[in-house]
Amino acid sequence: MTDTLSRRTFIGAGAAALAGSVLPGQAGALESPAIVLRGAARPTAISSANSLAPVSRALELVLQGSDTLDAAVEGVKIQELDPKDNSVGYGGLPNEDGVVQLDASCVHGPTRRAGAVGSLEGIKTPSEVAKLVLKYTNHIMLVGEGAKKFALSYGFQDEDLLTPESRQLWLTWRANRGGSDDWLDVPDKTPMVVRPTGTINLNVVNAAGDLSSVTTTSGLAWKINGRVGDSPIVGAGQYTDNDVGSAGSTGRGESNIMVCGGFLTVEHMRRGMSPTDACLETLRRVMAMTPPRLLREDGRPAFSLQFYALNKKGEYGAASFFRARYAVHDGSGASFKDCAVLYPPK
Ligand code: ASP
Repeated sequence: MTDTLSRRTFIGAGAAALAGSVLPGQAGALESPAIVLRGAARPTAISSANSLAPVSRALELVLQGSDTLDAAVEGVKIQELDPKDNSVGYGGLPNEDGVVQLDASCVHGPTRRAGAVGSLEGIKTPSEVAKLVLKYTNHIMLVGEGAKKFALSYGFQDEDLLTPESRQLWLTWRANRGGSDDWLDVPDKTPMVVRPTGTINLNVVNAAGDLSSVTTTSGLAWKINGRVGDSPIVGAGQYTDNDVGSAGSTGRGESNIMVCGGFLTVEHMRRGMSPTDACLETLRRVMAMTPPRLLREDGRPAFSLQFYALNKKGEYGAASFFRARYAVHDGSGASFKDCAVLYPPK
């Protein structure tokens, strides 16, 4: 990665605001006109596997000159508003009472500010509400009724977030969750042995090396009412230090909270690790904190967890306990890539 971008790349990167970054006397010393940027990066967006459209949108906006946090939120909103994505926003799977409770958080690198909402009901795009907490309040996190009242004050609509499909999935789970309750098992019983999870963590860097991160989720399906996972916790679900990079997570939130994984991954990068190595190291720390009840018989984790990381130069990587993919756009097209794996198939 070079710290010198050609003039064409610079203009293509839509970084007109950085025109003042031309270093006097340097352009003439090079064969072709060049602009040296302080902290210059390859504009890049990296995210979880359900986010091909969000990384494309986020990078497109960054290249047009948008702020990185605005770009990240506009990206994840695509999935939050998509009724077919049952891991976030509208259509996200509900808690055990059939109520969709959403979590989100974000960090804006350049201003070193954060915002978050937890257990937010009735609002399709919690990432936008988290951004408003960051922008307009002296606080970092609002939860439950207060978070909803805050969102409504900005004109968000209070809506039913269950789709016919997510309601059906919840009803099926409730009917089949056990033999000793008062709900009769439905004849075509589909035991929900696996607890569906899903989340989006999206991290973006622009040509100036300014970073932002956002994580949004409906949390673990069928969770206990009021349960808040890692996603809205700044330093766990996501974190950005504008001097270093951004990182975030999807998967079992409780395990991530125990190691403050977003923050820890950024700290690993600060100490010189590549984004991929930083993610792997955080997974090792998670394992060191994992109690036996969460381990399989072979000693491997009985849950999934992924970390995604992006540094200030635009280098990126991701790691997972088991095989998983992530989405990235580094200017050469949006694509899926394989996460590095801590436990390869036997
Ligand atoms: N991390 C999310 C949570 O624990 C869930 C997920 O990513 O699947 O709420």
